[in-house]
Amino acid sequence: MPELPDVTVYLEALEQRILGHRLEKVQLTSPFLLRTATPPLTSVEGKNVVGLRRLGKRICLECEGEIWLVIHLMIAGRLHWKAGSSAAVSPRPGSKFKSQLALFHFDNGTLSLTEAGTQRRASLHLVSGNTRLSTLDPGGVELFAHQQPNRQGGLGQFIGVESFARVLTAENHTLKRALTDPRLFSGIGNAYSDEILWQAQLSPVKLTQKLNEEEIARLHAATRDTLLEWVERLRAEAGADFPEKVTAFRKEMATHGRYREPCPRCGTKIQRIRYAANETNYCPTCQTGGKLLADRALSRLLREDWPRSVDELG
Ligand SMILES: [Zn+2]
Repeated sequence: MPELPDVTVYLEALEQRILGHRLEKVQLTSPFLLRTATPPLTSVEGKNVVGLRRLGKRICLECEGEIWLVIHLMIAGRLHWKAGSSAAVSPRPGSKFKSQLALFHFDNGTLSLTEAGTQRRASLHLVSGNTRLSTLDPGGVELFAHQQPNRQGGLGQFIGVESFARVLTAENHTLKRALTDPRLFSGIGNAYSDEILWQAQLSPVKLTQKLNEEEIARLHAATRDTLLEWVERLRAEAGADFPEKVTAFRKEMATHGRYREPCPRCGTKIQRIRYAANETNYCPTCQTGGKLLADRALSRLLREDWPRSVDELG
């Protein structure tokens, strides 16, 4: 699922291309995508894009008249850009692997939304007014001051350690659950939580209220550093192009999706704990004092600490 770093780089690429441009037509090619009945899609046609922002893991485009197009890519949704006359792009027939869900025709090019696989999870909401927009916010605290990078590409000040600690320890959950709960923290999901916990050298099943001050400070710094490092890396990878290689699995990741690969810090084989439909990856030497957490009891602990809806809320 595209998380804060991926969504940030998408937003930067979109800002360069569609901010101030006219959205001429929205063409839905999947009947399941649009989740709202009013305002109608035609209400944004002919309007200019006047703003862009992230809301949790969602991408929001503001059209004139305070009408927001809100896209949630969920796990397999991706955006693509084709510059030039929009008439040149026609909807591709849905294939089993990558289906086109919508085409947004602008005066200078076409943004398309696709979703891999057979499940249709990606969504589009149209909302009128900033108040209505906020109802789509899962409510997690923003980690950086800016939800859209400023002209220098800065995300602004990172949340202070006291505020971070307050959110983290408000309830007693596993670290994995707390970091990925969109009602607690905005924009972190399965991939970057694995990377953050590896960076902080903390166990994914450690309980938040068991952390000491030094561990919280370490997690706070690791969250900031990991997210910033990945924003930089994804920016560099996209360069001047539209980001077309968005994936939750990257070879530069230390633990996420690296089961049985060597830990880049100590060489120990990365392990996993599976729970529900998810898994978390960790280094036993760096994060759990050499203990393997693959036993049933820990899988159960993580599963039971996992609301079924947590990913849906993201
Ligand atoms: Zn290690």
